[in-house]
Amino acid sequence: MRFKRKINKNNEDKDNKKNSIKSAFADEDGNFSIITSSLLLIGFLLLSIIVLNIAIEERNESHEIISSNNYQYVMNDYIRNLPILERESLEELSEEVMKNKRPCLDSKGDLKKIIDEKLSDFNQQYYDNYNIQINSSLIAIENTSNPFSYKFKTYIRSVKGDYSFENIASSDVDCIGLKDPVPLLYCKGYHGLSLNDTDYNYGDSLSEFLRSNGVENYSFYVNASSPLIIRKCPYDPYKHHGDDNGKVMKNCRDNGYYHESRDGACYLCRLEGKSGCEHYGFETFINPQKTNETGRVSACGSDHVIFSDDIYPGVEVIYNSENGLNEILYLDPHGHKVKYGMSGF
Ligand SMILES: [Zn+2]
Ligand SMILES: [Zn+2]
Repeated sequence: MRFKRKINKNNEDKDNKKNSIKSAFADEDGNFSIITSSLLLIGFLLLSIIVLNIAIEERNESHEIISSNNYQYVMNDYIRNLPILERESLEELSEEVMKNKRPCLDSKGDLKKIIDEKLSDFNQQYYDNYNIQINSSLIAIENTSNPFSYKFKTYIRSVKGDYSFENIASSDVDCIGLKDPVPLLYCKGYHGLSLNDTDYNYGDSLSEFLRSNGVENYSFYVNASSPLIIRKCPYDPYKHHGDDNGKVMKNCRDNGYYHESRDGACYLCRLEGKSGCEHYGFETFINPQKTNETGRVSACGSDHVIFSDDIYPGVEVIYNSENGLNEILYLDPHGHKVKYGMSGF
């Protein structure tokens, strides 16, 4: 705008000069030097206008490059924010399941609803702040070879002036640090279940659940506990859990770690109240309370066995003893005992 105004002013100057040149020619006693200097001045003015026009064009061009770079920058920023928005949505859904004590019927569908709503608010913000029109929606949630992580795919189309952008953005969204709803969903109908920031304490709920499922020795799970928060076990390969006389297993159980498992449910299926699913998932253990008795047998303590239609037995595995009290797990001899390197216990 400023440039435009300058040109007008120059044109006015030019008109004034033209008038004075006319009168100089009209003067019969015309002074040659006035004519010469006037011609020079006109030449100078024309040259100035040409130079100015070139400058304006260059400025417009560079402005265009800046605005297209800016647009790209803003869209990259948008894509960088997607995993955060999607992870927040997963947490929201998880909290809803925990609060209502009700499983999702279709966790991926529910998650899409939450994410698309958030995307629509997010797109409005980008329109208000940058005048960029964005349409986006979640098109897929895929399980990956890492059972703690999903691939979220988001379709994005945006327009700003003459520019447009279309992309399918892929984000890695994990469930580490979120709550495991499985024990709550299975034991909510039985008295005694409580939870703190890190653990479930079952009281009588799990033993009653096992009793109603026909498990003998159900009472060995009175006052058992298991983790609340999904944390990935760092002791990989898992057969090292028996190392150092069971101290690795003790550390694993003290921290409430989860382990990759083909039989255990993935996180989104856990939100649907499943303990096992067709995806590559994970498992943790239910810790019976410490005991001074030995040689007992009860339900195998992997969560996908305890909370299933096919509960099979496990033998007592003592991984730590202090002051006459044993810390134990019930594990099936040929499956979980082998997988975790506990065969010698
Ligand atoms: Zn572990
Ligand atoms: Zn699954």
